[in-house]
Amino acid sequence: MRVAMAGMAAVLALLGPAASAQRDAAPVALADGVTLVPGSFEPGRQPDGNSIIFDAPAGLIVVDTGRHAWHRDRISAVAKARTRPIAAIVNTHWHLDHVSGNLALKAADPSVKVYATRAIDGALAGFLADGARSGRDMLAGGKLDPTTIEEIETDLATIASGKRLRPDVAVERSGAMAVAGRRLDLHVAAHAATEADLWIYDPATRIAVVGDLVTLPAPFLDTACAEGWREALAAVAATPFTTLVPGHGAPMTRADFLVYRRAFAALVDCAASAAAAPACAEGWAASIAPLIGDDSRARQRATSMTAYYVAKLLRGDGGKRKYCPG
Ligand SMILES: [Zn+2]
Repeated sequence: MRVAMAGMAAVLALLGPAASAQRDAAPVALADGVTLVPGSFEPGRQPDGNSIIFDAPAGLIVVDTGRHAWHRDRISAVAKARTRPIAAIVNTHWHLDHVSGNLALKAADPSVKVYATRAIDGALAGFLADGARSGRDMLAGGKLDPTTIEEIETDLATIASGKRLRPDVAVERSGAMAVAGRRLDLHVAAHAATEADLWIYDPATRIAVVGDLVTLPAPFLDTACAEGWREALAAVAATPFTTLVPGHGAPMTRADFLVYRRAFAALVDCAASAAAAPACAEGWAASIAPLIGDDSRARQRATSMTAYYVAKLLRGDGGKRKYCPG
């Protein structure tokens, strides 16, 4: 999810104290040999994305490694409990809530191989450099609470070691690949939630792990190209998955995903129309109501975040075109 620290602070303010998802949620077995380490999103803090751990012949495959030390400690605890080494990391995209843990996990075992796209290079030169600059400015302003200072310092330390986030095995195109001896279908979606999103379909369990192509309560559009994202959701729908793990939040059924996909398309269409941003956001929140239940605070978050994204990202200066090709 979001990395730009100034933008992040604006959105976090909208989320308020109900931002849920505590760091101590227990790992969940999704299938034989597939474990979810749920991401967290605590009030006043930046999020951690979900991690998925696949058993493989050569060890464990960890898909996304979170942002905070406590998240990677939970990944390490799963590996320890299974008495198996981490053999490979697959990163779905370069946002810091999905890649930061790479550094410590590789430091603990340099033989761990990272599979990802090369989009981290563009991110280090652009978005992450910008984020680091605004983070340092915020620290220099001297008006931050201790939790915010800790969050910014965590990200600045990761960005400072950014070159070590680069993949050992660059995944350039979609196809089946043996990762630590386990066959996974790796898909590369260009210009979607980020410059290049990698998502996974596991034919053995019919689980799709899609990173931030699916997030609730809103699609996190900070570095997105909406049209490419819509195409990526079509490609996900074309696989015969039965369980889908989003970048944040609980696993979904196929029916849940189709609700999300329809809502996403309607949101992009609304943003391209003359409708007012709050109306598009209300439409989004109504469309995803089956996914967030009748929790009025969740609905409020969905509406606030989406109105922000329609105004600032889909229509704002630079807008969606900034992250689209050409
Ligand atoms: Zn994320």
